[in-house]
Amino acid sequence: MEQSAVLHRHLGVQFPLLTLSESNYLNLDDGRKILDASGGAAVGCIGWGNQRAIEAVSKQLGQSSYCATIFYSTRVQEELCRELIGSTKGHMARAYIVNSGSEAMEAAIKLARQYFLEISPPQPARTHFISRRQSYHGITLGALAVSGHEYRRANFEPLLMTNASRVSPCFEFRGKTPGETDVDYVGRLARELDEEFQRVGPEAVCAFIAEPVVGAALGCVPAVAGYFKAVKAVCDKYGALLILDEVMCGMGRTGSLHAWEQEGVVPDVQTIGKALGGGYQAVAGVLANHRVVRAIEQGTSVFVHGHTYQGSPSGCAAALEVQRIVREEGLVRNVREMGTLLGRRLNEALGGHPNVGDIRGRGLFWGIEFVADKETKEPFPVQDHVAMSLAELGLTERYCIGVYPGGGSADGVRGDHIIISPAYNVGVAEIETIVNI
Ligand code: PLP
Repeated sequence: MEQSAVLHRHLGVQFPLLTLSESNYLNLDDGRKILDASGGAAVGCIGWGNQRAIEAVSKQLGQSSYCATIFYSTRVQEELCRELIGSTKGHMARAYIVNSGSEAMEAAIKLARQYFLEISPPQPARTHFISRRQSYHGITLGALAVSGHEYRRANFEPLLMTNASRVSPCFEFRGKTPGETDVDYVGRLARELDEEFQRVGPEAVCAFIAEPVVGAALGCVPAVAGYFKAVKAVCDKYGALLILDEVMCGMGRTGSLHAWEQEGVVPDVQTIGKALGGGYQAVAGVLANHRVVRAIEQGTSVFVHGHTYQGSPSGCAAALEVQRIVREEGLVRNVREMGTLLGRRLNEALGGHPNVGDIRGRGLFWGIEFVADKETKEPFPVQDHVAMSLAELGLTERYCIGVYPGGGSADGVRGDHIIISPAYNVGVAEIETIVNI
C-alpha cells in the first residue's frame, strides 16, 4: 500500500480509510463495518449522516462560508450564542465560539486573567492557575500547561508556563482510602486545594480548573457528591474563578445539558466542544458568567484574543442544528435512560472479571479500568490489546488513554481504561451489542 503523506499521530501505522459514516456505524475501505461505541472521541451525539445537520451546514455555506468576526457577526452565530446562554438558565452571560476544545481552554485562561485586570481595583498579581493531576484540558501549550497529563506534557515540559500547579483529582477508585466516608474524602481534597492556595499565595491565583466528569485522562470519573460545592467554596473564599472544562463531558453527554447542573455549582467560565457540533463541523466554545462579562464590559470592553476562523458560520450552523435536534428529539433523556442500562449491563457482564477493577461513569459516558490484580489494583496497561480486539470484533477501539500515579505504575503508563461513549440516540439493541462484544 502507498505510504501515507499525513503526519499521523503514529507514523508507522497504516490507518484504514473511513469511507462512509452512517447512523452509528463506520464503514472502512477494507470492508469492515464498525459499531461506533465511542462517537469517535466522544464527539458524535446525533449519529452520523444526519440529513438535517448536513442541510443546515450546506445552506449556511451557500449564504456565507466565512465571517471575519473582528468586523461582523452572523445571525447564525447570534442564534447559537443565544441558544447556549439560554440553556444555562441565565447563569451565563455571553458565549465565545472557537474551533476546538484546546482553543476554548486558551480563551478561558485569558478571560480569567483579563477579568482580574479589568475589575476595580485591578488585581494584576493574579497569574497562577491550579488544576488537577491526571487531567487533560487540551493540546496547545497553554492548555497543556494547566493539564496534569504526564505523557502528553513530557516532551514539552520546558515550554510550558510555570505558573500552574496541580492538586489531587477526585478519584474514588484510587484516591479514597479504605473506610473513608464521602464527606471525609471531599473535606480532605478541599483542604488540599486550600493549602495549595495558601502555598501559592491566595492573591496570586486566577482560577481553579477541573472537568466535572474526567474523560480522557482518567476514564469517565464523576466526582464524589459534594466535591464541586466544596472546591467552589475554596475558590470563593479567595476570590478566584472556577473554570469547568466540559469539552468532553458537556452538552448532554452525562445526562444533563451541562455537567455542572448535577453538581449544584455554576462555573464562572465553562468550555464546551465535541458534542456541541456533534462532528458536523469543527466547533467549540466558552461561556462566561455575568461577573466576568461585566468586568470586561466595564473595563476596556475588548477581550484581547481571537482566531481568524472563530465563529465560523458553518461551525455555528452545525452546532445550532445539532443542539436543536438534541432538544427536539429529547436525546438527553435517552442519554439518561440508555446510560443507566449501559452501566447496569456493563456491571453485570464484566463486574466479576478478574482484570476489571472499576466500572464508572454517568449518562452515556462509561469507563472500564483494567487491573492486573483486583485486590492491589495494580494497573494493567492493556490498551493495545483491547484496542485491537475490540476493533476486530466490530467496535471502535477509541477512546482509551490513561495515566496513573504510583501504585505499581510509573507516571505515563497508558491504556488502563477504555471509554464507551456512544451517540445519544443509541438504542437497547446497540447497547446489548456493545456489552456483548
Ligand atoms: N478538554 C477536554 C476535557 C478534552 O477531553 C479535550 C480533548 O479531548 C480537550 C479539552 C481539547 O479539545 P480539542 O481536542 O478539541 O482541542
